[in-house]
Amino acid sequence: MIRLSDVRFCYPTGEFRLAIPEMSVAAGEKVAVIGPSGSGKTTLLNLVAGILAPDNGSINIAGTDLDRATDQSRRDFRITTIGFIFQDFGLIDYLDVLDNILHPYRITSSLTLTAPIRQRALELAEQLGVDTRLKHHPATLSHGERQRVAICRALLPDPKLILADEATGNLDPDNKQLILDALFEATSTNHTTLLAVTHDHELLGRFDRIVDFRAFLVNEPEAS
Ligand code: ADP
Ligand code: MG
Repeated sequence: MIRLSDVRFCYPTGEFRLAIPEMSVAAGEKVAVIGPSGSGKTTLLNLVAGILAPDNGSINIAGTDLDRATDQSRRDFRITTIGFIFQDFGLIDYLDVLDNILHPYRITSSLTLTAPIRQRALELAEQLGVDTRLKHHPATLSHGERQRVAICRALLPDPKLILADEATGNLDPDNKQLILDALFEATSTNHTTLLAVTHDHELLGRFDRIVDFRAFLVNEPEAS
């Protein structure tokens, strides 16, 4: 599902360097990504999602070579194939919760918003406990509620690959389990691949495998 080969990346402004000689994740595999802050975990997810392009090497996702795709096709591919739960959620402030969850369907012709999809959006909102917030705007929600809305939005298109960037961070233990249950349920029913950055070491036992980012560090991150 994910194959990185000889990937190197650095930001145009900055010292940080990421080098991943080889990394593969099989379809259906559930992988936790751990590593110190600043070690490049978010950068990796952005490379896998095709939001960032590597300076060198190749990234193949679900049989598609991202480096050969045009910007437009990379974007459509991302919206239809990848459910990305961003570290800062990436919710749109001027849209209410329901419109945030439906948003992927409004920005690409590759997805069609049908009555069953709307119904599923409501079911997901209920499962994640945000069904009473559908007409609210993100700014009026708690941190945990925003996180769960971001998860509903990521899961709605039944993505083949879920990228979760600290989706359980800053939550109480019950909410952590609820969120992980929702992610794992989505991955097991659809044979979805899950790549999840986490600092919650008590959750690691639920994953098939752990990728530790210290292995990819070229330069130690500066102490902050
Ligand atoms: P992590 O998610 O593991 O905390 P990140 O991937 O966010 O790490 O960041 C890795 C390094 O890249 C950090 O040193 C960070 O400051 C730097 N960095 C992140 N985003 C940018 C950016 N847009 N421009 C320049 N440097 C960045
Ligand atoms: Mg990060």
